[in-house]
Amino acid sequence: MAAEFDCDILIIGGGPTGVTLGLLLARAGVSVIIAEKEADIYPLPRAAHLDHERSCASSKKRAWRTR
Ligand SMILES: Cc1cc2nc3c(=O)[nH]c(=O)nc-3n(C[C@H](O)[C@H](O)[C@H](O)COP(=O)(O)OP(=O)(O)OC[C@H]3O[C@@H](n4cnc5c(N)ncnc54)[C@H](O)[C@@H]3O)c2cc1C
Repeated sequence: MAAEFDCDILIIGGGPTGVTLGLLLARAGVSVIIAEKEADIYPLPRAAHLDHERSCASSKKRAWRTR
């Protein structure tokens, strides 16, 4: 028997974009499912540096978390 899932928003892809969007939507009270095709996290580092724009997005996420 197939499992059933329900959500307001289905996000395809659990990379930084999908996870950030899912986090912001969840903190706004929207039910979200993130569907990722890979079973494991990418094994190599891909965040050696963060530019200004991404730092601002991360700071905003932290601000949401403290509310
Ligand atoms: C070697 C390397 C080093 C890097 N270093 C840095 C760095 O230092 N700083 C920096 O800011 N950026 C860096 N980047 C870039 C950064 O990794 C990307 O900008 C970022 O990962 C893009 O995020 P994204 O969520 O848009 O896409 P992705 O990270 O590509 O995520 C997309 C996700 O969707 C999944 N997906 C795709 N199709 C499907 C499907 N049909 N069904 C389900 N899931 C699916 C994929 O498996 C993946 O997990 C680097 C990239 C590489 C390759």
